[in-house]
Amino acid sequence: MLGSNRLTKTLVFQLDVESGNEDLIYDAVLEARAVYNETIRLAKQGVEWQAIPDRVADDADLVKNTTQRIVAKALAAMKNYYEHDDFGQPSHTKDGAYPLRANYEEGYDLSLTSAGEVAFRISAKPYKHIEGILKGNDAQLDILKTALTSDEWKLTTAETLWCDGNPELHVNVTNTEKRVRDKQNSQTIVGVDVNEDNVALTALSADGVEDTLVIDFPEIKFERHRYFTIRKRIQKARKDSIHTVLEGRERRFVRDRLHKISRHIVEWSHQFEKPCIVFEDLKEMRESIDYGTRMNRRLHHLPFRALQFYTTYKASFAGIPTAWINPEYTSQRCPMCEHTERANRNKKRFKCRSCKHQDHSDRSASVNIAVKGIEKHQNWNVPALNSLPTVRKMRRQASGAVNAPAVTHDAVRGHHTDGSVGVSK
Ligand SMILES: [Zn+2]
Repeated sequence: MLGSNRLTKTLVFQLDVESGNEDLIYDAVLEARAVYNETIRLAKQGVEWQAIPDRVADDADLVKNTTQRIVAKALAAMKNYYEHDDFGQPSHTKDGAYPLRANYEEGYDLSLTSAGEVAFRISAKPYKHIEGILKGNDAQLDILKTALTSDEWKLTTAETLWCDGNPELHVNVTNTEKRVRDKQNSQTIVGVDVNEDNVALTALSADGVEDTLVIDFPEIKFERHRYFTIRKRIQKARKDSIHTVLEGRERRFVRDRLHKISRHIVEWSHQFEKPCIVFEDLKEMRESIDYGTRMNRRLHHLPFRALQFYTTYKASFAGIPTAWINPEYTSQRCPMCEHTERANRNKKRFKCRSCKHQDHSDRSASVNIAVKGIEKHQNWNVPALNSLPTVRKMRRQASGAVNAPAVTHDAVRGHHTDGSVGVSK
């Protein structure tokens, strides 16, 4: 299928290594660096490339398959250098860790434990395995567990890396059935503004704003606060096991809600022509300076990253691409006249200091995110905005009942009951 991609994910985990084996991984990633360096050195020396793999493999203290992959990677870097002068000649004198790349069931193996965790086994060195348990966030573990138990997913390669003094395993999984449309080939951009207690969505096409939806979820904030308070009390009484139980309950509660909200975002987006869902890029946000308290508050609250992750994942399943933009000024810019000033925004209220346009501030942000998404990823123009549709608000029900059933477009629209206009506080 043209203009689409296989659905692949790279899942990132920390390695909780069985005791006594901690040093083995570090030795192996250093050995991987030595193999890489030796390959580059021989190539520079003018040794025939076909002869290099065997020469390096003889001395390498790694399993054969892993050595072959590192040699291939090093030679590919040399080839790139010869074919494109601007690549810079690969170095053979760098030190530090180099990733160990391996095929599933060759260089590494994963299995579900009876406790519901995922155990790993990495063959780093000949006859020496590293075993232990994968640690990571729930969303990534969920996908991995699905991949391990379903034919629809295939585990492919993984890399063992050394990150900031800790071993990690980056696992690539591919969905064998689904495909995702190219994001460049979209007709509607859905800007998603994620906040502590709501998400604001705006669908923008070449004709203008198609629709806006704000999904409120105050119960997440409320429940997290409630559990936090209970845990504090228990901490004082030193009942650690109860503490853990509560933490698990809180996590499940939040996770359950985030799954539902992300499903709703995808269903809502699905009604538009060739949609692409756009988020603010968390990494760029961290590096930015001018965000003040709003951004800090958003960054330190869990829903942000997890909600993006769940939504991306579910969107992929629906064949909908996702994209990221730089979050700079998305909450300060006026969507009508583009005047950008921090004072335009006051909590949930947006009022442009220049053209006096008023709006729900999170909706404004979602329009700006959509605009940036078009500028960055599409080859059509951002339409001039003269008016914006009414902000539709809906609240997810605290019972957890899904009040937006599996998509038909009308069904989703039908739930935007509250037609309150523009500004709310
Ligand atoms: Zn304005």
